[in-house]
Amino acid sequence: MKAIILEDIANIETNPLKISEVEIPKISENEVLIEIYTCGICHTDLHIVEGDIPLKKKPLILGHQIVGKVVQKGNNVMNFNIGDRVGVPWLNSTCGKCSYCLNNKENLCDNAKFTGYDVDGGYAEYNKINYNFTYKIPENFTDESAAPLLCAGIIGYRALKISDIKPNCRLGLYGFGASAHIAIQIARYWGCDVYVFSRSKKHRKLAEDLGAKWVGATNEKSPVKLDSAISFAPAGEIVPLALQNLDKGGTLALAGIYTTPIPQFEYNLIYQERCIRSVANSTRDDAIEFLKIAGLVPVKVEFETYDLKDANNALKLLKDGKINGAGVLVVK
Ligand SMILES: [Zn+2]
Ligand SMILES: [Zn+2]
Repeated sequence: MKAIILEDIANIETNPLKISEVEIPKISENEVLIEIYTCGICHTDLHIVEGDIPLKKKPLILGHQIVGKVVQKGNNVMNFNIGDRVGVPWLNSTCGKCSYCLNNKENLCDNAKFTGYDVDGGYAEYNKINYNFTYKIPENFTDESAAPLLCAGIIGYRALKISDIKPNCRLGLYGFGASAHIAIQIARYWGCDVYVFSRSKKHRKLAEDLGAKWVGATNEKSPVKLDSAISFAPAGEIVPLALQNLDKGGTLALAGIYTTPIPQFEYNLIYQERCIRSVANSTRDDAIEFLKIAGLVPVKVEFETYDLKDANNALKLLKDGKINGAGVLVVK
């Protein structure tokens, strides 16, 4: 099969992703083989390529927002049939035995494996995965619009929960890329007023179109204090800015796998029971709940498509904040 291979970490400007011919994965009795239609690109892919987080496997096929069809299945696979359209997310497997797995926190599993990081992902023609970590895609999404649901969407949904948002609350979103543009639609569905902070004019326009109550630059003061906030941008300097806009008792959720260092700030920014929490991965329940609600809203996914062979270019555009909504690689 054709696949895009990362041999080692490098600046994305040097085009480190190379197209290559590799073996089609062989499945075990609990796995399905998926012929890939589309695969979303994610900031995490960029952080892996550029060494912001450690590279665990070489060579590596990136990509953890896979949409495709089941073309083979192992003997133990019960809930999927050949031809079913399925999605593969970031959480690829968990141990099922550690204290986190046993306490409904499998996103923190000591032995979790992640798609396109610990194991090969979806910048390729085929992928395999354990059927317990695979999901049917709601019918109202196309192959292109479904791919960003699988990380941008699921992580955005978990970030909403971690931010302790309640119906009809005031929510701040910092950074308005793939994840935030989906999260705003869920928050609006729950009746929340959403205040969006972004460095990009284009992204602020998209936020307005999606029903933001107010938009502004990242360092602006919000017109009212916010009950909850989420930062999707990998920029630590946003933390004190976001705390300034947070009401007493409010929670700021940090949704990225990586962020630049958080600057020192005065205690009064977090005093009055303000809270900062990071979001790490997601559980299978998050994925199931989110895909259900995404179909109900229904979430409208903004996306831009690129050929699989143009993965370097797509990640460069992502790095420069030039993609409106989500970037999706088209494989088929
Ligand atoms: Zn991701
Ligand atoms: Zn575990």
